Amino acid sequence: MRVYLDNAATTMTDQKVVKAMLPYFSEKFGNAASIHQFGKEAKKAVERARSIIAKKINADPSEIVFTSGGTESDNLALRGIAHANKHLGNHIITSKIEHPAILNTCNSLMEEGFEIKLLDVDNEGFVDLKALEKAITKKTILVSIMHANNEIGTVQPLDKIGQICKKHRVLFHTDAVQSFTKVPIDVKKMHVDLLSLSGHKIHGPKGIGALFVRKGVKLREEVTGGRHESGLRAGTENVPGIVGLGKAVDLTKETDIKKMKKLRDRLIGKLLKIKGSKLNGPKGNGRLCNNVNVGFRGVEGESLMMYLDTKGIASSTGSACSNLLVKEGGISHVLQAVCEDLEFASGSIRLTLSKFNTDEEIGYTIESIKEVVEHLRKISGFK
Ligand SMILES: *Cc1c(COP(=O)(O)O)cnc(C)c1O
Repeated sequence: MRVYLDNAATTMTDQKVVKAMLPYFSEKFGNAASIHQFGKEAKKAVERARSIIAKKINADPSEIVFTSGGTESDNLALRGIAHANKHLGNHIITSKIEHPAILNTCNSLMEEGFEIKLLDVDNEGFVDLKALEKAITKKTILVSIMHANNEIGTVQPLDKIGQICKKHRVLFHTDAVQSFTKVPIDVKKMHVDLLSLSGHKIHGPKGIGALFVRKGVKLREEVTGGRHESGLRAGTENVPGIVGLGKAVDLTKETDIKKMKKLRDRLIGKLLKIKGSKLNGPKGNGRLCNNVNVGFRGVEGESLMMYLDTKGIASSTGSACSNLLVKEGGISHVLQAVCEDLEFASGSIRLTLSKFNTDEEIGYTIESIKEVVEHLRKISGFK
């Protein structure tokens, strides 16, 4: 059996998405910036996708900027705001558990003279709202806090963070790559000024993403060239990718979220029955519908992952961490931020679900993990 449980890394492009994209490689190949019929046809498809995405987060289509993915969206948000607002201040607040696309961009901005405040999180991965408010200074120009964490699935209360930012008149960016289409987002109600999303985490294609930029927010373009995307991101639009992203959003259903939650809870329930195990991330509410992250004593996460791979199960340790701000040992910066007990951290495994997973796959995965954990403990002499 082959079981794919690494959907936080990437997802399978939905066949319906592929089908929607295909004509835009062939007969509808026009450049969306051209003013002849070929161009108009492409432009129409791009604008349709822009509307679908805008609607999903309660934004206006004119507030959506297409990029090459979540990483570029994060870069455009951070660098774009920093460079457009440096006359107002040089202070940026973020958290210790952000994706490397945020943390390493912050490193780069630090080299340019920006000051970065990294907020701690509690043992479930939640940002302390009082600490956030206290960290805001006269020089703060931006707060960037991710919506859902890609390793431990913590979903931050965006509305509360947005309220604090609004009260102090500081711009608020969120990396919503993991949560987009899984957790309801309303950028107006939540007072979000900038939001990153990506195609390939939601059964869309790789190499396409978007940044929501609230009307009136000043941003410096970071890729210069033609006046594409309202002058915020130069380069001929990736029409097939944009069409695919729009289609992927169109295909999302509430029932898929319910299905993932059910599988998630079954997995968590059974894995925690294994002795010497611990759940990483939120125990109750505030956990992403498709995230499972469990640590086992006396086991190396890497070994567990490799053994599961030989059984056809794709998982992850989430420990591919190499950013300058938080490098330490081989343990993921996220687990280091939430685990008091590093033995659990190094013995942790992340399983992330999609709408395509089945009950049968989860049953097989539970049995396989039990077996492998027992085996690894036996050879390491763990009692
Ligand atoms: C995957 C991911 C990204 C990067 O998105 P790409 O489209 O792969 O560049 C950024 N942030 C988070 C939270 C992610 O999970």
